[in-house]
Amino acid sequence: MGKIIIQNETTKDPISLIGREAGVCWGADISNAEKNYKRGMDCLVSGHGRTWEYPQVYVVMDGYSARVFRELYTHIGGGPTRLQASTRYINYEKGFDYVIPPTIDESEETRNIYTGAMDDILSAMKKLEALGMPREDIGMLLPLGMCSKVVLRTNLRNLIDMSHQRLCTRAYWEYRNLMKDLMNALSEYSEEWKYLVDNYFVAKCDVAGFCTEKNSCGRRVKYEN
Ligand SMILES: Cc1cc2nc3c(=O)[nH]c(=O)nc-3n(C[C@H](O)[C@H](O)[C@H](O)COP(=O)(O)OP(=O)(O)OC[C@H]3O[C@@H](n4cnc5c(N)ncnc54)[C@H](O)[C@@H]3O)c2cc1C
Repeated sequence: MGKIIIQNETTKDPISLIGREAGVCWGADISNAEKNYKRGMDCLVSGHGRTWEYPQVYVVMDGYSARVFRELYTHIGGGPTRLQASTRYINYEKGFDYVIPPTIDESEETRNIYTGAMDDILSAMKKLEALGMPREDIGMLLPLGMCSKVVLRTNLRNLIDMSHQRLCTRAYWEYRNLMKDLMNALSEYSEEWKYLVDNYFVAKCDVAGFCTEKNSCGRRVKYEN
C-alpha cells in the first residue's frame, strides 16, 4: 500500500496566495484576507491558469511501484522537480518490496506464480552479488513492480491537469489510486486544498462534458464528429 506525505513546505492557503499575488498586479489592498480569498476564487473561476502555478506542493510518495512513477515522470507541466530512491544500494539480504495487483492477489494460484517470479529474481540477484558483480549492474534485474519512493515538487496547475488524465477510468489502476491518495492527503492538509480537490480535481470527461477516449468506459457519452 502506497503512502502520501504532504510536506510542510507546501502552500497552506493556495486560494488566498493566488489572490495575494494577483492583487499585487492589480494594485489591490493585499492586507485584507477576505478580499485575497475572493480574488483567488475569481482567478480560479475565470481559468487564469498562470495564477494556479503559485501554490507549491512538496510531496513524498512512498511504496508505489516503479511502473507508476515512470508514468508520473511524463507529467512535465510546470517543470516539476523529482528525486527517486536509488536502485544501486538495495540490501539483497532483506530483498525488495513489490506491488501485487489486486487481480493477481485474488487467488492463491496466481499470487504464488507472481511472488515466485519475484523470489526467482531476488535469488538471481543474490547469486550475482556472491560472484562479485557490481550492485548497479545487478539492479538491472529489478522489476517494474518493485516499490519505490519519490519526492516531488510541483504546483496546483500541474496537479489539476494530472487529475484530468489520471482519474479517467481507463488510466492505469495504480495511478488512479495514487491520485486519490494524493487528493485525500491534500484535503486533510488544509480547508483551501479540500475546496480545490472537491471542485477542480476531476476526470477529463467531467471537464469536457463527454468522453474523449477512443475506448470509452461509458461513464459519459462519447463525442462523435
Ligand atoms: C487512458 C490513458 C492511457 C494512457 N496511455 C499512455 C501510454 O500508453 N503511454 C504513455 O506514455 N502515456 C499514456 N498516458 C498518459 C498521457 O498520455 C500523458 O503522457 C500524461 O498524461 C502526461 O502528459 P500530459 O500532457 O497530460 O501532462 P503534462 O506534461 O504535465 O502537461 C500538462 C499540460 O501542459 C501543457 N504542456 C506541457 N508540455 C508542453 C509543451 N512542451 N508545449 C506546450 N504545452 C505543453 C499542455 O497543455 C498539457 O496538457 C495515458 C493516459 C490515459 C488517461
